[in-house]
Amino acid sequence: MTAVLEVEGLHKTFGGLVAVEAASFSVEAGRLFAIIGPNGAGKSTCFNMVGGQLRPDRGAVRLAGRDITGEPPRRIWRLGVGRTFQVAAAFGSMTVAENVQMAFLSHRRRIRALLPPARRLYREEALAVLDRVGMAGQADRQCGQLAYGDIKRVELAVALAHRPKLLLMDEPTAGMAPRERVELMALTAGIVRESGISVLFTEHDMDVVFAHADRLLVLDRGRMVAEGTPAEVRDNPEVQRIYLGG
Ligand code: ADP
Ligand code: MG
Repeated sequence: MTAVLEVEGLHKTFGGLVAVEAASFSVEAGRLFAIIGPNGAGKSTCFNMVGGQLRPDRGAVRLAGRDITGEPPRRIWRLGVGRTFQVAAAFGSMTVAENVQMAFLSHRRRIRALLPPARRLYREEALAVLDRVGMAGQADRQCGQLAYGDIKRVELAVALAHRPKLLLMDEPTAGMAPRERVELMALTAGIVRESGISVLFTEHDMDVVFAHADRLLVLDRGRMVAEGTPAEVRDNPEVQRIYLGG
């Protein structure tokens, strides 16, 4: 099995605070990998070092064998690391389909993306992706009018339109109702299995994490507490102490 993402000895401090200490893990193709841990554990810092928003103090990040450590976010995105964004905030006045069409266009560096004729380009591709996330029926609604859970689905469609090798999802279900959380992660897992893209995600609901993650990393105050399959991690006494408050 080839690793899409390899993280080796990543380290990040903010002033005197060690946010992430020697984190190492790898994500294989077509797998969901979760980073879990209490608030302030260093999860977002890890995501940001992989996505290029933060430069690590030490350590390496490799994408499909290529060193991308400290590269700018735009370049890392171009090389195939997608992130989910808040679509509604940016493009609320555009329709659902237009948001996804924009994603197809921007990925192909078309300057014409913003001109009116472009509104027809990639319409079919956009509809196909929207169908996959269960949003084809709402393709022509303005994003600003969607329910929160549906915005999250559009966000996923936009990320998929960039055809990432690896998708970073930092708390994708934050603010969603429990049932919607379960649905969104089940949907994401299904897409991962059939498309072969890999997902690195974090999520507070442990039932959701254990149901869908192939492997997971547990962080606590920047330190790696455990790494392995859900069964391995669940049986780890230190993990039980952190989560059950021993
Ligand atoms: P998590 O996502 O697991 O909740 P974070 O990665 O956001 O944790 O934060 C890890 C630690 O680093 C926390 O103590 C947080 O306060 C600190 N931290 C995160 N980002 C910054 C920053 N830009 N400047 C200073 N401290 C930060
Ligand atoms: Mg966070």
